[in-house]
Amino acid sequence: MDQAAVDALRHKAVPSQRLFIGGAWSEARERAALDVVSPLDGRRLTSIADADAGDVDRAVTAARNAFDAGTWSRAAPAFRKKVLHKIADLIEAHALELAVLGVRDNGTEIGMAFKAEPGSAAGTFRYYAEALDKIYGEIAPTQDGVLGLIHREPVGVVGAIVPWNFPMMIGAWKLAPALAAGNSVVLKPAEGASLSLLRLAELCAEAGLPEGVLNVVTGRGQVAGEALGLHMGVDVLAFTGSGGVGRRLLEYSARSNLKRIYLELGGKSPNIVFADAPDLERAATVSISGIFRNSGQVCVAGSRLLVEKRVHNDFVEKLVDRVGKLKVGDPLDVTTNIGAVSSAEQLEKNLRYVAQAREEGAGLKAGGSRILEETGGYYMAPTVFDDVSPAMTLAQEEVFGPVLAVIPFEDEAEAIRIANATDYGLAAAVWTSDLARAHRMVRAVNAGVVHVNTYGGADNTVPLGGHKQSGNGHDKSLHAFDKYINLKTAWIDLT
Ligand code: NAD
Repeated sequence: MDQAAVDALRHKAVPSQRLFIGGAWSEARERAALDVVSPLDGRRLTSIADADAGDVDRAVTAARNAFDAGTWSRAAPAFRKKVLHKIADLIEAHALELAVLGVRDNGTEIGMAFKAEPGSAAGTFRYYAEALDKIYGEIAPTQDGVLGLIHREPVGVVGAIVPWNFPMMIGAWKLAPALAAGNSVVLKPAEGASLSLLRLAELCAEAGLPEGVLNVVTGRGQVAGEALGLHMGVDVLAFTGSGGVGRRLLEYSARSNLKRIYLELGGKSPNIVFADAPDLERAATVSISGIFRNSGQVCVAGSRLLVEKRVHNDFVEKLVDRVGKLKVGDPLDVTTNIGAVSSAEQLEKNLRYVAQAREEGAGLKAGGSRILEETGGYYMAPTVFDDVSPAMTLAQEEVFGPVLAVIPFEDEAEAIRIANATDYGLAAAVWTSDLARAHRMVRAVNAGVVHVNTYGGADNTVPLGGHKQSGNGHDKSLHAFDKYINLKTAWIDLT
C-alpha cells in the first residue's frame, strides 16, 4: 500500500454527518449530535446525528414505503444484480478513501482495514449479486391432483444493528443478502464506527439503489437501537454485537411484534496446539495474528491458546519473542502491525481485565499496559498471560482486546474439556499432523467454525455463526439468505 496515498487522506476534513432516510440526508429531529473522537489521537474528528425513536420511525416508514412500492422488492432479479455489482464497483473505486475514513473512526491498522473493510465488503456484494438469481422456488412432491409450490419471498423491512470493530465487513454481511433477497433495510451502525457506513449509503444511492431501500440511522444504541428493536414495522432484526445487547433484542421482540432476531455475538475461542503440529514456528506466527490483529477486537479472535504441556515452554518462548517484534502504533502507518484500541472505554476495560488476571494469579509474560500515551490515542501493548487456569475470569470472559490467555493441557481429552468449558461457541482452531485427531477435534469442539492448521481466513462461501451463547443464525454463504426470506406455500387444487 502506498504511504503517500494514505497520508493524503489522513487529515481530510470530515463534515458533521446526518441521517440517511428515504434517499436524502436529514438532521436528527432534535438536531441532536454525538461527537466522534478518533482513537488515533483522542481528538474530536466530527459528529454524527443522534437519532431518537421518531427518527427511527421515519426510517422504518421510508423502508416500508419502498418495499410496498416494489421498486426493489418486485424488481427483476437481473436489475438487483446489476445494482449490487455497481455498489461493489463503487466500493472498490473508493476503497482507500473508505478504509482511511474507517481507520480514523475505529483505529484498525490500515493494512488489515483495507482488506477486511472495503475489500471484503465489495466481495460480499458481488457474492450475493451473483447468487440472487440462482435460488429457485420448489415444487413439492404432493399427490396427484394437487400442485404444491414453495415460493421464496423477501420478508419486508430488515433492521440491521452492527458493531464498531469491522463496520463495513459486518455491515455488508447483513446488507448484501438482505438487499439481494429484495428487502428494504434500516441500518444502525455503532456509535464508534458510523462514518464509512454513511459513505457506503451514498455509494449505494449512486449505484441506483431506489430511494428508501437502504436507510441509515446513527446514534446511541439504547435510544436508536432500542427503537429499532421495538418497532412494530420491522420484520427481521439482524444483529452483531455483545451478548448483553443480544438478550435485550430478544426482549424487544417479545414486547413488540415477535420480529425474528438473529444474533452474532462474542466468543472466547480456543486455539489448540498439539505437540505434533506440522510446523510449530508457523503455528506461533499465525496464533499471534489470530489474537492481536485489530488489537484483539475480532469476534473470532483466538483468545485462549491451549498448548500441550510437552511443548508448552518452548511455544510460549516463541510467542513472546514474536510479540516483542510487533509494531504497535499509528494505524495509518502502512508498516504498523497493530493499531489503536477503538475507544478510551475499551482501553480501560482491557486494563481492568489485565489487573484482574494478575490478581487471580495468571503469569504476565508480555505487555499489560497502555502505551504511546503522549499521542493522546488509545494504544495497548499486546499482552500475554501464561498458566491461566480454565476457571479464571480471563479464560471465561471475552475481553475484546489484545490480551491472550495461555492454558497448558495434558492430552486430547483435557483439551476438549477446556475448549468447551465456556458459555461461548464461536470459533476454534486445532494444530496437529494427525488426520484422525483433526477430524475428532472438529467434531468434539462445540463452535461454529473449527480451523485446522490455520487460524481465520474463511471466505464468503462458508457460513459464520455461533453455537451456545455466541448466537444463532449465520452470516455469509447461501445460508444467510434464510434470515431474509419467507417461505410461502401455494396449495393448488388441479381437479
Ligand atoms: P455492543 O453490543 O455494545 O453494540 C453493538 C451495536 O448494538 C451497536 O450498534 C450499539 O449501538 C447497539 N446497541 C447498544 N445497546 C443497544 C440496545 N439497548 N438496543 C439496541 N441496540 C443497542 O457491541 P460492540 O461493543 O459494538 O461490539 C463488540 C461485540 O460484538 C463483541 O462481543 C464481539 O465479539 C461481538 N462481535 C461478534 C461478531 C460475530 O460475527 N459473531 C462480529 C464482530 C463483533
